[in-house]
Amino acid sequence: MTDSSRLQLEHRLAELHLREHAVLVGNGTTGLALLVRALGLQNREVAVPDSVCLNVPLGLRFGGAWPEYLDNQWNDLGLDTQALAAPRAGRGAILAVHGYGQISEMDPLLAAAHQQGLPLIEDACLAMGGIHHGRPVGSFGLASVISFGAGKPLSLDHGGAVLTDDAELAAELRTLDAALPAFSESAQARIDALGSAHTRLYNRCWPEGLAAEAPAFAQEMLAASDAFLHRFDPRRLAPLQALLPRLQTVVRQRRDNFERLSALLRPLAGDALQLLPLTPGAVPWRLNVLMQSRHEAMRALHAQGLHASSWHPRASGFLPGTGAEAEHPVAQRLGREILNLWVDEQSTGAYAQAVLRTLEAHLRARQDLTLTA
Ligand SMILES: *Cc1c(COP(=O)(O)O)cnc(C)c1O
Repeated sequence: MTDSSRLQLEHRLAELHLREHAVLVGNGTTGLALLVRALGLQNREVAVPDSVCLNVPLGLRFGGAWPEYLDNQWNDLGLDTQALAAPRAGRGAILAVHGYGQISEMDPLLAAAHQQGLPLIEDACLAMGGIHHGRPVGSFGLASVISFGAGKPLSLDHGGAVLTDDAELAAELRTLDAALPAFSESAQARIDALGSAHTRLYNRCWPEGLAAEAPAFAQEMLAASDAFLHRFDPRRLAPLQALLPRLQTVVRQRRDNFERLSALLRPLAGDALQLLPLTPGAVPWRLNVLMQSRHEAMRALHAQGLHASSWHPRASGFLPGTGAEAEHPVAQRLGREILNLWVDEQSTGAYAQAVLRTLEAHLRARQDLTLTA
């Protein structure tokens, strides 16, 4: 495919998100890093929620900025707007992360950015296809980042884009992107290996060993900037073009699967299992529940060959930044208790029934334990 097909696709992505410009990048992490550089945020701090995908602070570090960790808030699992209201001298930008497939309420975040004279960046990597106040996610703030990486609503296992209305910023992003190396299979293999290592480390070490082992692992990720930072692979233009029209179908399917699984799990809800409701317009990434026996429940699901994960432990435990020492009760509870259940296209009715049976058996076994104790 030619340069003109790239421009056409970027135009389509911009249009979908009510933006003037879209710049295709190698992945969402690269998008964040390039934005940090283009906005001159080197050595400044960027406010992020502490319970977040590790790639978020990683992208900031790759760009030369530092994360400023604030707590999450329960209503949307995004940045704690009250904590954000207190200005900080070192803060250079606010990153609104639509985490867990939830949509962050943008009005207070935009208001804080405006009051503090800071740019607001929207991380929509997990929420492409979502709607907020009648507008597409990816249309808020100075710039937004989307991803087509593994596990994202629209997944090619590669690529992402930065969206903005600012022509100068888009041009600067293109210049910075052009200086990055081309995509390579070996770079992707290194990223994938780090991703698997992260999952293994976390599942093996939770909870006691994690604090001791996380920093060394984070160093490995930081040392892999040359693998993470690369350009969009032109061979993925045609597949992305073919995938885009499926967005609404994918979103609908995820919402349907979410509804079916939450209806099944509702009778289990109580002290031992709490369902986290979805914000309006969200694109469910997973169905998230809180369980005090989260890790045991996850192991029970894995033993049945069912998918479950426990993202995210607080990112500040891996990558240092301001606020890493502070108490963040919401982020800490999410780290201890969240269980993410799959709602993607493989989450059929039979699959959802198997998840229900396994969680039911798990809870019953624990109840029996406490009764006989
Ligand atoms: C996955 C993800 C990223 C990074 O995207 P990649 O394309 O995997 O680099 C950034 N932010 C959030 C919220 C994510 O979930």
